[in-house]
Amino acid sequence: MKVVSIVGTRPNFIKLLPLAPKLEEKFDHIVIHTGQHYDYEMTQIFFESLPLPEVDYHLNLDKNWSEIQKISEIMIQLEKILSQIKPNLVLVYGDVNSTLAASLTASKLQLPIGHIEAGVRLHEKLQPEELIRIIVDNCSDLLFCPTESALSNLKEEKISGKCFFVGDVMLDAFLNNARLIHKSSILNQLNLKAKEYILVTIHRAENTDNELKLEMLIDALVDFNEISVFPCHPRTEKMLKQYNLFKKIKKSKNLILLRPVNYLNFLSLLLNAKKILTDSGGVQREAYFAKVPVIILYATPLWPEITKYGGGILANNKKMILDALQNFKGVAKRAGYGFGDGHAAEKIVQIIEENLPLKNLIN
Ligand code: UDP
Repeated sequence: MKVVSIVGTRPNFIKLLPLAPKLEEKFDHIVIHTGQHYDYEMTQIFFESLPLPEVDYHLNLDKNWSEIQKISEIMIQLEKILSQIKPNLVLVYGDVNSTLAASLTASKLQLPIGHIEAGVRLHEKLQPEELIRIIVDNCSDLLFCPTESALSNLKEEKISGKCFFVGDVMLDAFLNNARLIHKSSILNQLNLKAKEYILVTIHRAENTDNELKLEMLIDALVDFNEISVFPCHPRTEKMLKQYNLFKKIKKSKNLILLRPVNYLNFLSLLLNAKKILTDSGGVQREAYFAKVPVIILYATPLWPEITKYGGGILANNKKMILDALQNFKGVAKRAGYGFGDGHAAEKIVQIIEENLPLKNLIN
């Protein structure tokens, strides 16, 4: 049986990490990289530093294309490759443009689709990733939910595919790699002491593409009188330059701006942070898994378990952010509670085995 994984972005690679070896044990596993992320620190660094599988097909995208051009070009190139491979299942990951392009293409080709991280909802339809989640879940035949709340979202929506609560593959990845952080020397390199800095990530379009919002976030960090370490996503770097905020950061003594770092270095920064401030879906979960208090830059929760079980707080204006940076000390009562047992990958592979072949196959 052939199972194709289609990945293209940093969070996709992390989700593939625990799953790939389990898939390889049971299936002919083929990996397609869409090329959505292309900066060295957003893609290659992970293939060099982690035991990720070799990429079998790498799509060619022009980095200057618009998002719509990239989505359509991914679809055109995938059509050819998937028609040749004729896989028994196409696995798509998370909620990025590559996930959307891959599931629409597979769906048009009538190939069965499995969605890793199905059912996650912010309940705000206009948010770009939310639209992707809803479309991809509706295209999918096997829906692998990371939490019980994701499963109940799908039940409420009466989604037609088969839905399973398996736990979060990001918890698998976190548990497998958190014990390796002694290999990272990033704290020494940056002259940081454990629990004496805030770790920051910001990259959601709602924050980066809104000048006032991005300036407010930077002001909050500059005004807060503690060290913040900020591995900066290329999209954010571009917008900081465009809005002339880059200079403000460079001048500040509190704010250490970095290029994105590899996964082990990031986990080392995360596990040793005093607090975390993030708009990342993955980083907020990792903070919760690590029992580090997390301030989530959202108005409504994407991962309700994190606020419900005491690991995180939502903050979306300067006053709330500064207040949370100063006072929020909540930690999860049990690390990772609600996200499964750290064996999501095994469960997913077992379910795939039990369900293949699925009927709507082209060959
Ligand atoms: N990450 C990393 N280096 C960094 C920042 C993040 O390796 O400099 C990892 C992080 O550990 C997590 C994933 O990237 O596993 C999250 O990706 P991102 O925040 O880009 O996407 P999201 O989770 O919001 O979809």
